[in-house]
Amino acid sequence: MPSSAHARLPSVDRLLNQADIAELKRRYGHTAVVAALRAELESLREALKTQPETPVDPSRIAAACRTRLQAQFSPSLRPLFNLTGTVLHTNLGRALLAEEAVEAVLAVLARPSNLEYDLDAARRGDRDDHIDGLIRELTGAEAATVVNNNAAAVFLLLNTLGLRKEVIVSRGELIEIGGAFRIPDIMARAGARLREVGTTNRTHRKDYAEALNPRTALIMKVHRSNYAIEGFTASVPEAELAELAHAHGLPFVEDLGSGTLVDLGAYGLPKEPTPQDALNAGADLVSFSGDKLLGGPQAGILVGCKALIARIKRNPLKRALRVDKMTLAALDATLRLYRSPEWLAERLPTLRLLTRTETDIRAAAQRLLPAVQASLGARAVVSVEACRSQIGSGSLPLDRLPSACLVLRPQQGGGRALNRLAQAFRDLPLPVIGRLEDGGLRFDLRCLEDEAAFLGQLPLLEFPG
Ligand SMILES: *Cc1c(COP(=O)(O)O)cnc(C)c1O
Repeated sequence: MPSSAHARLPSVDRLLNQADIAELKRRYGHTAVVAALRAELESLREALKTQPETPVDPSRIAAACRTRLQAQFSPSLRPLFNLTGTVLHTNLGRALLAEEAVEAVLAVLARPSNLEYDLDAARRGDRDDHIDGLIRELTGAEAATVVNNNAAAVFLLLNTLGLRKEVIVSRGELIEIGGAFRIPDIMARAGARLREVGTTNRTHRKDYAEALNPRTALIMKVHRSNYAIEGFTASVPEAELAELAHAHGLPFVEDLGSGTLVDLGAYGLPKEPTPQDALNAGADLVSFSGDKLLGGPQAGILVGCKALIARIKRNPLKRALRVDKMTLAALDATLRLYRSPEWLAERLPTLRLLTRTETDIRAAAQRLLPAVQASLGARAVVSVEACRSQIGSGSLPLDRLPSACLVLRPQQGGGRALNRLAQAFRDLPLPVIGRLEDGGLRFDLRCLEDEAAFLGQLPLLEFPG
């Protein structure tokens, strides 16, 4: 490197005395500012090696440091607009918590709480006690417990009841859901031997009956969350499986996946099995998620007979899979909303979004169209089109809800222009995530509730190049 270029670089000490950098120091602290300055000088030094003409300007260095520090000090996990049309989107955070749940979490965050303390008896309590009564009330179960997510619930129940034994499952139910949850793998890790019976499309009572042997631990049914088997099919009703298991002194357990607590049919939505249905059909244990249709925090809920829940709670792995106070607070508040079913569709965001009518969503699309078109100018043509939203998270895979979307179509530039358009919306302070389809960027407006925030940041759209 020419030594003249090198000499042009100011020292860290000199830069620290500069007014704009002193301001950064007050905001981020000495340590972080010095580290950012060193990194900035290092990249300048590299640039000077190949491009000796690179300008060395202290105020430019300060600006670059500011950008660097802003990025370092802003949270990695950020809110955004989910306009993909999938309401319970696993990659975008699944269920949105109700206001009541948010408040309940905030209340216990920065203060001590009775998490495991019995205020009446003034002695150690059980953290499950906060939600156990409500879950029993809402599902009719004898007992309940909660773990980190439904995958953990399934794992824990298999490990508790099926260790070194066989678990009978139909070949039509050996599911894989997103994020590498596969029944055969979970079974193996839980130490249980999978005994698959029947075929992909048809499994009969006698398939289960013939697989029973002294090593059998239980019969399991897994809800086909994210796919459907159609055509020449047969499966055994839960009540028959329960009766078969019980006749051999074995439990019948069911992984329901989503497991809504209300009859979705009453809200004009497709029917989804409830834990109540499964228990009534004779299931001894049922597991389901907290952040799918239930509309609460990430959690796995296990309900069923007292003796089995007690065994599960004694498993040392329960300690490893337990939920924290934030989850308990949010789950407790969410479940409480179910006590006033007449307001549920209003207060529970998941249900509120799922029950929005096409007319309502289309009206929102018409309202927003002029502002979106104005922000894009001649870059793209915006129109309102009909579309179908998905419930998501493996719930009700075949059912789609009529909805409306804004479609943004670049007038020229093809796929690259379309990608740049999508990128511009992702670069906003509250990134907007849509779907690319048929040469257009589609924003399904079912999940857009804060229209003011959406409109407010349109002027910030930037189109490089
Ligand atoms: C979603 C799902 C799971 C996993 O639940 P998580 O709460 O995501 O861990 C397990 N089984 C079925 C059938 C599911 O649909």
